[in-house]
Amino acid sequence: MQAEPWDVFMLHFLSLDVMQHGLWRFMDPTHPRHETGPSSPDGAGSPYENAIRDGYARVDAAIGKMLDVADDETIVLVMSDHGFGPLHAIVNLNNYLMEKGLLHLKRDPWTRLKAAAFRQGLTPATIFRWMSRLGVQDLVARTSKGTRNKMMGKFLSYDAVDWSRTVAYSMGHVGQIYLNIAGREPDGIVARKDRLPVLEQVMDALKELRDEAGRPLVTRLIPRREIYHGSHAEHGPDLHVVLDDYQMISFPLFATDDKIITEQIRGDSGCHRSEGVFIASGPGIGRGKTLVGANILDLAPTILHLAGLPVRSEMDGRVLGEILETPPDVRFTETQPEQRQETGLDEVESAEVEERLRGLGYL
Ligand SMILES: [Zn+2]
Repeated sequence: MQAEPWDVFMLHFLSLDVMQHGLWRFMDPTHPRHETGPSSPDGAGSPYENAIRDGYARVDAAIGKMLDVADDETIVLVMSDHGFGPLHAIVNLNNYLMEKGLLHLKRDPWTRLKAAAFRQGLTPATIFRWMSRLGVQDLVARTSKGTRNKMMGKFLSYDAVDWSRTVAYSMGHVGQIYLNIAGREPDGIVARKDRLPVLEQVMDALKELRDEAGRPLVTRLIPRREIYHGSHAEHGPDLHVVLDDYQMISFPLFATDDKIITEQIRGDSGCHRSEGVFIASGPGIGRGKTLVGANILDLAPTILHLAGLPVRSEMDGRVLGEILETPPDVRFTETQPEQRQETGLDEVESAEVEERLRGLGYL
């Protein structure tokens, strides 16, 4: 901040995310895997009991240092890209789709052998548990994502799926379901005209998903049209499944083991929520105002406006005028048709994007 001139300065504290994934259960006495630590008989807590609170205090102190450096003309925004809450279990949605006859495995001997081995416990979950017991689980974190994906391919994976008989599959964190659409998926069998009735069928099957106690697990089913729009929307998942109020998420790849409801492979006990925080202060920002119904998409146009720049009219989101002392006079610019053309990324740009994503731990 002091070394270079800047118009907008941004800093991301990733530690809050990592901490809450790993340590939620120590703080939360209602968590099914709550642990009070070795000295628990006398009521003393785990050494990690206050780790999350202390982590927030450290981030708060770091923000304090930045505020000391920033001048009085600087507007400061504090935002999270999501909230946090407890994670109780993982749902292998592909196993459930298989049980419901919506996804089928190939019938060749090799796939059958893999499926049998999977049922016998040759699963990513078992291997990870063995490695944890041997104390080498850090090796998994240190291997590249490519190697890990290759390792995962040795288990039952999407390669084992008989796409000619599969209507729906799950891929991706949280609970994304894709229909096996002809013309979109390489071996798609669902005709585009049948998409909605097939989606209904999949949604009906998911509504029957229950835990061992018979409790329904699906909190919300969100069809694609409710969340995605634009020219690439049809490449997105056909359905988002909110499981047990986000206290359960699906496994991002094929399946961790042969169970439908299972434990988190790395022992995470916290996970994302859709509500986050937003705080603003500085010249022109109204004091003590409460913001209702803000969306993460509103941040970019708001920041452009606060920086004195016009907002592109086709941009998603809106300027959060209600945080300001006086109603904003937002300037918009039209994007010229020649600017609207999608140029795609060249090799250098793609490499840069990859490098950024790797730095954030996504690759
Ligand atoms: Zn996270």
